[in-house]
Formats: sequence, structure tokens, C-alpha cells
Amino acid sequence: MSKRPRRKKVKRSSRSRDRQRRQQLTREVRELYPAASETGDDWHAELDLTSEDRRSATKAGPATTTPGSASGAPAARAPVDGEADAGDRRGRVVAVVSGACTVDRDGESVDCVLPSELARDQRSAIAVGDLVTFSAHRDGVHRIVEVLPRRTILSRPDPLNPRLERVIAANIDVAVHVASVVDPPLKPALIDRYLIAIDRGGAEAVICVNKVDLLADETERRRQLEPLDAYRPLVPAILATSAVSGEGLEALAVALAGKTAVVVGHSGVGKSSLLNALDPDLDAATAETAGGKGRHTTTRSSLYRLAGGARVIDTPGVREFGLWRLTPRELSAYFPDFDTPAASCRFSDCSHSHEPDCGVRAAVEAGVLDRGRFETYLRILASIKAER
Ligand code: GDP
Ligand code: ZN
Repeated sequence: MSKRPRRKKVKRSSRSRDRQRRQQLTREVRELYPAASETGDDWHAELDLTSEDRRSATKAGPATTTPGSASGAPAARAPVDGEADAGDRRGRVVAVVSGACTVDRDGESVDCVLPSELARDQRSAIAVGDLVTFSAHRDGVHRIVEVLPRRTILSRPDPLNPRLERVIAANIDVAVHVASVVDPPLKPALIDRYLIAIDRGGAEAVICVNKVDLLADETERRRQLEPLDAYRPLVPAILATSAVSGEGLEALAVALAGKTAVVVGHSGVGKSSLLNALDPDLDAATAETAGGKGRHTTTRSSLYRLAGGARVIDTPGVREFGLWRLTPRELSAYFPDFDTPAASCRFSDCSHSHEPDCGVRAAVEAGVLDRGRFETYLRILASIKAER
């Protein structure tokens, strides 16, 4: 893909506007909520507010949550003194930073500070995609009043503190897991983990295997895409795409049409390139457009509105995808392809790891059940046991 110097220029000017808004908002937050600016996050590094150039795109770090609040919305708050009107201002969060967020209200971007009780607990309280109500305070500052109940979420444990749940996106209909072939190669174990996380959060899963243009011929294509066969009965939408040749883009557009989607996957698989290919006006940052040396550059979650009307949350690449507070029993429920062979395990509570007469292990040995899936299952099971 070629560089786009014109767009880079636009980005620079929007960045300086963003910086001014950031400084202004920082001052407002500090004045109103001294505690909110001491939550430990790097406020300046994280805040990167909406560019007017984009329709409704914003970039910011994903919000995180603490255990126990995964899918429920934080409690509503009664209006406080000084609130001009709590009204019925509603919108969708398109960016969250320490102590503040940006809300899209009918196409207009509104910067809102978080009340102290939300700011204190924002690792659990608010995420990109959340529907919120907000008020205009007497001093002209908008403030979040309430986070509405979440329909779905996509979350994972905080890599630095696995006891904290990090909500990647809220209220998504579809979660698209983008993988690639060749560069980087397909990693089915990562698909397994994403599928569990997607399923748990209530969204519909789409697997998108990108860069198929790099497959030299039909034999190579068959060989490299063969590991996907195990997933076909589990995920109806498995797409082979190429942001370069355009293959599969129409199918991807159909899968996203009219929906709110989150796009997840390892960095460098082509998430931003796919979004740019779906909507050339989007200008999501890819390795090239940011002038990087092949380095991944999507460092903040962003909510974009595509030309076709879909809302898409682009996320930073995820190297590890842990699973938050999963019990061994729950784990087996996410491997429905094990159900039939598990019926012939000697023990009804067989964990399929060490028990004698295990139907699942027998099915793997007989080549009826995918060995890769089984190995992922064992690895996740071991990690759950180690955590306890
Ligand atoms: P992201 O980190 O997932 O957002 O990935 P990017 O969109 O930044 O793409 C990473 C690299 O892969 C860039 O060098 C892209 O030009 C390249 N790339 C993306 N999609 C494709 C594709 O379909 N085919 C090929 N050959 N390269 C691609
Ligand atoms: Zn068993």
C-alpha cells in the first residue's frame, strides 16, 4: 500500500487541535475532580480526542473494569448540585481516557468528564461503545450522568493485573477476529481464545483470515487454510480476505452492515488496512500511513462510522489474549465440538486431561477431533488451574 502524504498533513493539523482540546479538558478535569487525575493512568499519553476530519472517529486507550462489573452497568447517580440539566442527552462513548471520555451524540462529539465515583472506578465503569447519558454542568462542562446497561461486551484480563477485567468494547453486535496467513502466520490457538471471549461477552463471532493474496497457489491456499476446517461448524462466518486484492471485502461489508462491530486480532494482521479498504475515507492508521518501519501503530481503541453505516471499533493489537475468571466447567462449555466424544468418557465430570477411558482423547487419537483445539483446551485448563 502506498503512502498518503496529503492525509498525513491533515492528521498533523488535527493532532495539534486535539492537543489543545486535551490540555483544556485536562485543566477542567483537574479543577473539578482532583482525584480523577491521579488514577495512575498517563492522562496525556492516553487522551487523543476526536479529529473533526473524521466522521466520528476517536482514539483512546480502552477502558477497563474490575471484577464483578463485567456486563452490568455501573449504578445510576442522582443529579448533584450545580447540574444544569440531566436532560435526555444520550450518546455513545467513542473514547475513554483517565477521568474523561468523548461521546458521540447524533454525529456530534462531546467531551465529558467522569464524575468522581466513575473516574475512581473507570477500569470497570466505562468503555468504548457504552451508551451514556450526560448533563451540561453550570460551568459549561459536560459530565457523564449514567452508563446504561450493556447488551454485550468483549473483555480480557488486564495484562499487568489479571485480577482486573479490561473491557475492550461494549454493546457490540459482532466481534471480528482478524487473523492472517504467512505474515504473521495463522495461529489457531489465538482463534480459540478469541472465540471463547467473544462467546462469553454475548457478541456474534466472525473470523476473518486476511492476506490470502500471499498464498502462492491453490495447493498452498488449501494447505494454509486447512486448520480453519475445525471452526466451520462453530462459526458460520469465516471469511478469507485481502486488503490488497480486495478478495472477501464484500462479504466482510455484508457481515458488518448495520451493526456495531469490534475488530480484534494480533498486530500486523491488517485490521486497519481492511477498514481502510472498506471505506477509503476512513484513514485508520496503518503501519505505512504513520511512516513506521512495518511497526504496528494502532495504539488506541477507536470507534469509526463506516460509509455503509456500520460502526466499527478498531482495537490495539493484542499479543496475548487471556481469559478472565474462567472455571474449568465453563471452559468445556466453550468447546461444543467436544460434546459428542465426551459422552463416552468414563466419568461424567471428566476433564479430558488425565482420566482413564476419555472419549475426547480417544477422538483426538482417532483423528475425529481437531488436535489443535484439544491442545488449546489443555493449555487453557492448565492456566486456569495454575491461577487458583
Ligand atoms: P493492523 O496492525 O492489524 O492494523 O495491521 P495493518 O493494517 O497496519 O497492516 C500491517 C501490514 O500488513 C502493513 O504492512 C499492510 O500493508 C500489510 N497488509 C494488510 N493487509 C494486507 C493484505 O491483505 N495483504 C498483504 N499482502 N498485506 C497486507
Ligand atoms: Zn474425557
